[in-house]
Amino acid sequence: MDLKGKSAIVTGGSRGIGRAICLKLAKLGADVAINYYPGLKEEAEELKKEIEKIGSRGYPIEADISKMDEAKKLIEQAVATMGKVDILVNNAGITRDSLILRMSEDDWESVLAVNLKGVFNCSQAVAKYMVKERKGVIINISSVVGLRGNIGQANYAASKAGVIGFTKSLAKELGSRGIRVNAVAPGFIETGMTQGFPQEYREKILKQIPLGRFGLPKDVASLVAFLASDEASYITGEVISVNGGIIL
Ligand code: NAP
Repeated sequence: MDLKGKSAIVTGGSRGIGRAICLKLAKLGADVAINYYPGLKEEAEELKKEIEKIGSRGYPIEADISKMDEAKKLIEQAVATMGKVDILVNNAGITRDSLILRMSEDDWESVLAVNLKGVFNCSQAVAKYMVKERKGVIINISSVVGLRGNIGQANYAASKAGVIGFTKSLAKELGSRGIRVNAVAPGFIETGMTQGFPQEYREKILKQIPLGRFGLPKDVASLVAFLASDEASYITGEVISVNGGIIL
């Protein structure tokens, strides 16, 4: 795989899976706009330095992607700085877990705003640019939970299932313009998002993973890099799982 000469934008790129994706794309030669949420500037600046050590360029850009105007500015700024954009990875995501009877309206709205509307905001802004260029790749990070559901995550599951429908629709709309759109559905990956799981719950999940371990951010990053590369030039509208074979 080779991404030399490509420019990528990764939302929520300063930590967790997003950070691993930024590093992997940079290792393969891409320049990377590292979107970070206000508050993670230091992590994004540190990642920029790491990317420079690899020999690529990193550009931290602050934006709350759940807000349309900020998402638009993110894409505009990335294009202005890097000169173009070939790859968008919609990675930013949050959880606000709760059983349905206790779930607040805010739990529902905030998760949908980041995980689903954020994907719409960034994809629409980047599509305007990619359609003119008649090429581009969009990769959306969904989840095993969006495919199979999970107790206490009705909001998260709805947002991630929504991302799958969105991905398949966009692939149909934009394919004729040379734009590929795919989704990646990770299982349980070792990041801040899963760190707080009680030990008992971790053990329960582990029993359901044939490969016997939680995933690592780099496991997801490898798949994203493949989909971003020309090696995947005939793949669009797919949802590809990276989950250790989990039986959820
Ligand atoms: P993480 O470590 O919590 O990282 C998520 C990133 O998104 C953080 O940098 C976060 O910034 C950022 N973010 C949140 N809201 C944002 C906003 N409005 N605008 C811009 N950035 C925002 O989680 P992760 O595990 O790496 O998750 C990455 C993606 O993979 C998410 O879409 C998640 O749903 C998905 N996923 C994760 C797992 C897993 O097991 N970890 C499994 C399946 C799918 P802050 O920290 O400042 O909020």
